[in-house]
Amino acid sequence: MAKISINLSDGSLENDSKELVIGIDLGTTNSLVAYVDRDGGQPIAVKDEEGTNKLVPSVIHFAADRAIVVGREAKQYLASDPARTIYSVKRLMGKSLKDVGEHADFFGYRIIDEDTDALVKIEVDQKYYTPIELSSLILKQLKKRVEKALGQAVSKAVITVPAYFNDAQRQATRDAGKIAGLEVLRIVNEPTAASLAYGIGLDPSDKKKIAVYDLGGGTFDVSILKIQQGIFEVLATNGDTYLGGDDFDRAIIDYWIERSGRDKASLLADKELGQRIRIMAEEAKQKLSTEQLVEGEIEGIDCQLTRTNFEALIKEPIDRTIAACQAALKDAGLGIGDIDEIIMVGGSTRVPAVKKAVSDFFQSELQDSVDPDQIVALGAAIQADILSGNQKDLLLLDVTPLSLGIETMGGLMDVIIPRNTKIPTKAARQYTTQVDGQASVRITVFQGERDQVKHNRQLGKFSLNGIPGMPAGLAKVEVSFLLDADGILQVKAKELRSGVEQSIQVKPQYGISDKDLATMLKDSIMHAEEDMSARALQEAVNEGEQIVLTTKKFINSNAELLSKEELEKTRELISQVEGKLQGSDKDALQAAIEKLNDFSRPFAERIMDIAISKAMKGKKI
Ligand code: ADP
Ligand code: MG
Repeated sequence: MAKISINLSDGSLENDSKELVIGIDLGTTNSLVAYVDRDGGQPIAVKDEEGTNKLVPSVIHFAADRAIVVGREAKQYLASDPARTIYSVKRLMGKSLKDVGEHADFFGYRIIDEDTDALVKIEVDQKYYTPIELSSLILKQLKKRVEKALGQAVSKAVITVPAYFNDAQRQATRDAGKIAGLEVLRIVNEPTAASLAYGIGLDPSDKKKIAVYDLGGGTFDVSILKIQQGIFEVLATNGDTYLGGDDFDRAIIDYWIERSGRDKASLLADKELGQRIRIMAEEAKQKLSTEQLVEGEIEGIDCQLTRTNFEALIKEPIDRTIAACQAALKDAGLGIGDIDEIIMVGGSTRVPAVKKAVSDFFQSELQDSVDPDQIVALGAAIQADILSGNQKDLLLLDVTPLSLGIETMGGLMDVIIPRNTKIPTKAARQYTTQVDGQASVRITVFQGERDQVKHNRQLGKFSLNGIPGMPAGLAKVEVSFLLDADGILQVKAKELRSGVEQSIQVKPQYGISDKDLATMLKDSIMHAEEDMSARALQEAVNEGEQIVLTTKKFINSNAELLSKEELEKTRELISQVEGKLQGSDKDALQAAIEKLNDFSRPFAERIMDIAISKAMKGKKI
């Protein structure tokens, strides 16, 4: 189907079969939008209207009159109006207050946590905003920027997220895109985008292991990727979500204040002065990436710094990033020599001491020719271009951290996609009905490792209705799971004989933290034994209920074919099974089932014989 877009500059309609898809780096500190130029085929980051800056600070300011500004303009209010100026909202995506925990005081604005919703909200002037809504404001700004620059409407995007983002955080990012009026074609891992920006993985014959070192404003992460046949697989990630260029700035501020002999607390109590010192520190840091000495002065404080002094100040945080690289390599089961490329991402990798530490550790040259601020957005644009059909398709592989399945009889978890399955993936299983004429089945989707669904996490439920009347056990209900490359699950149920079907897209519930995930996995190991016996009992109960049901049905419709004694004995054996159904003695229940089975089996055979002879009688020989 051809897509029609409106040219914003003159209002004319443009009929273009290949719609432009943009790539967005939605960063903690800075965001960026890029696209692949049709003529040149190269990714380009979009500048602001003045044509100077490509980065959009990820900052939102709500003016007293509720006017909203985003980006550089909003950043000016960080010091003067902190309660109405939101930054680092990416840290809150898909998180509950519990997840944010000890870091809550990091934020200068008010974060609240409602009981009804595990997600945090941000309060500004008695209005409540979700991190998704706030992120959507940044995305809207980026959308607007690219539409103005190109004079064309844009409605599709690829957005990047850190490799360690879980389902909820990815879904939250996708939703933010939707609210901003963007159809998010793909959520891509930042290290994958960075690789694409170097052209790595574009050629299916590429077979490489790479390390992506990303040191931004407030976060650090390192990812080890394996690239093969255009497939990007994340082998390991590590990092620190509270480590970045901001720490370098703080180290400089502390150094200057200490040298001045003034009291830090009272100096910084003056918010405006504090902000001026902070800006001065960030500028000094950036200058020292290319110069050896910076000088300056604020209110009698000497702001001098040499590169050597600065490197001593930041040695400790840099060492921590190297320890994380070591841990990631270990998790990936690789040695330094196995890594083919080291890619540098994030503004803070411009610091020469950072480059030196990373290259010393990996004993190798670094890939640092692409601008570290833009690299993720440029890679996202390349992925966007691929998705818009301009290049061959590439996949992005990941694994699902928890098993996905549905509830079956007696509250048991039936796993359809086991944990650690590489995604995208699909799987299906068949089920049947329990009762004659059953017209609907309820499908409840769970995530987790425990045998009983009550211990797992419910993701969603729906009913498959309109199954035509059939005896129990005859309907064939196929439940299929499709887990896409973004970790979003599509569940479909279809009755194969009649073709009726129903499906839902499961939004993994927000707020599952890495901690919860670890707890869920730990619980499943700790309770493995009791889970197993609970499952065995439940299975016996299911079997018992089934046989009671069918035997009752049988004697009701065939009573005339059984003797009075046989009927009585059968009823007695049925009630014995029923008596054991409530208890927790699996062996006794199974024994009762066995007895009923043994006694009633010959009846079925007899009925068959009678049925056959009846049929014979009807025929004339
Ligand atoms: P994020 O991915 O967290 O949004 P960025 O990758 O945009 O962050 O990095 C922002 C950080 O990079 C800031 O701390 C900024 O001061 C730092 N930075 C930018 N340019 C330089 C430079 N030339 N030298 C040192 N640090 C820099
Ligand atoms: Mg970044």
